[in-house]
Amino acid sequence: MQFTAQRRQVVEYGRQMARAALAVGTWGNISCRLPGNLMAITPSGMEYEALEPKDIVIMDLEGNCLEGECKPSTEQPLHRAIYAARDDVGAIVHTHSVYASAMAAARKPIPAAVEDLVQIVGGDVRVAAYALPGSSQLGSNAVAALAGRNGALLANHGVVGVGTELGQALLICQIIEKSAQIYIAAQAIGGVVELPQEDIDIMRDFFLHKYGQR
Ligand code: 13P
Ligand code: ZN
Repeated sequence: MQFTAQRRQVVEYGRQMARAALAVGTWGNISCRLPGNLMAITPSGMEYEALEPKDIVIMDLEGNCLEGECKPSTEQPLHRAIYAARDDVGAIVHTHSVYASAMAAARKPIPAAVEDLVQIVGGDVRVAAYALPGSSQLGSNAVAALAGRNGALLANHGVVGVGTELGQALLICQIIEKSAQIYIAAQAIGGVVELPQEDIDIMRDFFLHKYGQR
């Protein structure tokens, strides 16, 4: 079996996504980029807690399955489109978390109103134009909504978060869910005040170059 370490990581982060209540049942999916324009992606419709490294499917970015006995995620065109368009992306997490999906169902972006969101996502969270789940159109719509961002909402569907590695992509989905909760709660007390672009740029730059132990 090739890419054992990466398959294990995909399994591990699938469990973390389920345990963080970002996915219920078998929905949502996870992948990481592999050398040689390949990706390792979760299989379709399988319980995260029961997944084993052998269940993870190795595919190329044209859609051919190279290794693995399972059917790949139905969202493999979404993952392929993002890897093809974004050299900076090494991992993708797609969730159906509750509050972010409420925003997606309302087709309303999550405004840039809190620090962690703008630091890690890069600004507001746009809503990708509606397309059917599993379609290539969903992939191109998501790529457009992700321009200059590390996360987007998928209209009437859920969230996609991207990062250099799986931990970052999962964290982005968690921060997007938290920000959707904040936005919806703030609506009850008059709504959010959006941050000015100048301050968003300062916070993003600080996060990228100075934040944390370095
Ligand atoms: P898969 O189980 O095929 O990955 O599909 C789940 C999903 O989120 C579809 O949008
Ligand atoms: Zn989905």
